[in-house]
Amino acid sequence: MPKPRPLIAGNWKMNGLSADGWALADAIVQGARDLPAGGAELLVCPPATLVGLVAEAIAGSPVALGAQDCHTKESGAHTGDVAAPMLADLGCRYVIVGHSERRADHGESSSVVRAKAEAAQAAGLTAIVCVGETWAEREAGKTEAVVTSQIADSIPPASTSATLVVAYEPVWAIGSGRTAMPEQVAEVHALIRRQLATRLKDAAAVRILYGGSVKPTNAAELLAVANVDGALVGGASLKSGDFLAIAAAAPV
Ligand code: PEP
Repeated sequence: MPKPRPLIAGNWKMNGLSADGWALADAIVQGARDLPAGGAELLVCPPATLVGLVAEAIAGSPVALGAQDCHTKESGAHTGDVAAPMLADLGCRYVIVGHSERRADHGESSSVVRAKAEAAQAAGLTAIVCVGETWAEREAGKTEAVVTSQIADSIPPASTSATLVVAYEPVWAIGSGRTAMPEQVAEVHALIRRQLATRLKDAAAVRILYGGSVKPTNAAELLAVANVDGALVGGASLKSGDFLAIAAAAPV
């Protein structure tokens, strides 16, 4: 089975006004022209307020558009929320669900994350389902148990490699400048691959991204680890040069 095409996804989080969003998206589109053909797929996930604008900025380019969250329902009385069909309508192809910041800030359980992933898939989007342990859980030797249960409870069983991407993001490595060691990444990605294989027919083709303080200086090492099929990038995705350098480090 050939390795899936790497995906380099930028999670802009709650950052950017219109001018910043346009400039960042435009710089990524321009810079993407210099990346090797057949290299990584690029994805930008701006905040909901900028999704429409960024759709215009990247129109006609190979850069894909995603969002950072969606509701479990396709419409209705949910003030302030955004439904997956609304994101698809704006041109999104992906949506991140179950990011640790949403699990922590909004108390999202794995069953809610699974319902969001199902809503995304029903709207024709690929769900990027995030999993990962806290430092306390790692210290207590619970990494395998935590990630296994997040996979079991967050991944829709009808997922395929076209509708699902998994992101392993150790919570302690997010925005902290602390990056997991390649051996730690290899161990958890292999575990995720095994867990997916017990559930999905084309598990080998499902992309598993690593996320947690990925930057140009560590990208090549992390992207070369077995079962790492790309990166979910937070802080470094806000600088086009850094984001593009990470994409350039992906194996062709
Ligand atoms: C993230 O928020 O998904 C992330 C990986 O952030 P950072 O790259 O800043 O650690």
